Amino acid sequence: MTETQFNNPFLSCDLKRYPLSKNESLRAWDAADELLLQHLFESHILHAESRLLIINDAFGALTCALSQYQPINRSDSFVSQYSCQRNMSSIENQVVYQSSIDELNSPVDVVLIKVPKTLAFLQDQLIRLKSVITPQTQVIAAGMVKQIHTSTLNLFEQNIGTTKTSLATKKARLILSQVNSQTEPQTLPESQWAVPEYNLTIVNQANVFSREKLDLGARLLLENLPKDHQSYIDLGCGNGVIGFRLQQLNPEAQIQFIDESYMAVASAKAGYQLNFPEGSQATFLVNNALTGLKPPVDCIVCNPPFHQQHAIGDHIAWQMFTQAKAMLKQGGEISIVGNRHLQYHSKLKKIFGNVRSIASNKKFVVLSSTK
Ligand code: SAM
Repeated sequence: MTETQFNNPFLSCDLKRYPLSKNESLRAWDAADELLLQHLFESHILHAESRLLIINDAFGALTCALSQYQPINRSDSFVSQYSCQRNMSSIENQVVYQSSIDELNSPVDVVLIKVPKTLAFLQDQLIRLKSVITPQTQVIAAGMVKQIHTSTLNLFEQNIGTTKTSLATKKARLILSQVNSQTEPQTLPESQWAVPEYNLTIVNQANVFSREKLDLGARLLLENLPKDHQSYIDLGCGNGVIGFRLQQLNPEAQIQFIDESYMAVASAKAGYQLNFPEGSQATFLVNNALTGLKPPVDCIVCNPPFHQQHAIGDHIAWQMFTQAKAMLKQGGEISIVGNRHLQYHSKLKKIFGNVRSIASNKKFVVLSSTK
């Protein structure tokens, strides 16, 4: 049985990784959450009036434990905030939810950051923080030792001020930064690059998948896209490159771009406006896969994710394929690309009862199933 009772010095609570998946073996918090809460408790940093900002809380552990301070929960992940809301549902206190691209405008006293996977995203978050921190603000980050490198600490030094780390406990460590108002102003690490063979320009905010170059799986899918449908969903759209190509191949089609990352959807929207200045049929949605969506669609195209937060797995792909079956019209098509070893072939066969191999190379395979 997975442990769900999250004991901590502030507010012990029942904590799960939402949306729930079968055979879940991982807890919804880690040793870095525990270390951070213990440090806050022992150092008496928080007071009744403290304005608290929590960044990158994966499933709601920090937000639930510290909910008496009515924190702001800021994240790039729709699914993380959904999980936090579900875990908060039996707790009376109020939380304010903000996306990673919302403007930060009121000053904060304490900022807690779970160290994200990529440096560019951390840099983006630290740059955005500058407008709301003062030399009195406490900035404390937490992560597992393997996620904290010299380059991570350098980012805190450059963007916040003098930085030190705690001793490691259960392979977790804290980063403590003293705010220095003299740090150099920096620009957000947004990247733009071209895909010349398709005459496309791609916009990538800091937390977008494969933000520096075209993903190799996406490349194979781009060469083998399904045509002649009237409506498409680019599911897990990232920067939107797949949907852009679909629009080029099917100028009259309605394309919907969906991702759980706010930065991904904002990037896809910016890229669409750049590549199709006259286009108006596209829609953009931040959502957990196809959850809650109703109208039937002709075709769903997807390069599925293979991890949620720091955990690797194929449960999101399963969720996407199963929801796609429900969402497609009769005779509709799903087209996906995946690493060969992920065995998407057998998953699609099981769900749709049919699967065709459209193209493959040493590493990837493009598959299609019909409802
Ligand atoms: N389509 C882009 C490409 O080919 O470059 C991105 C593909 S990337 C492998 C998978 C995408 O799925 C990521 O952008 C990720 O944010 C998104 N994703 C992960 N979990 C999701 C979920 N539950 N609902 C919607 N999108 C999700």
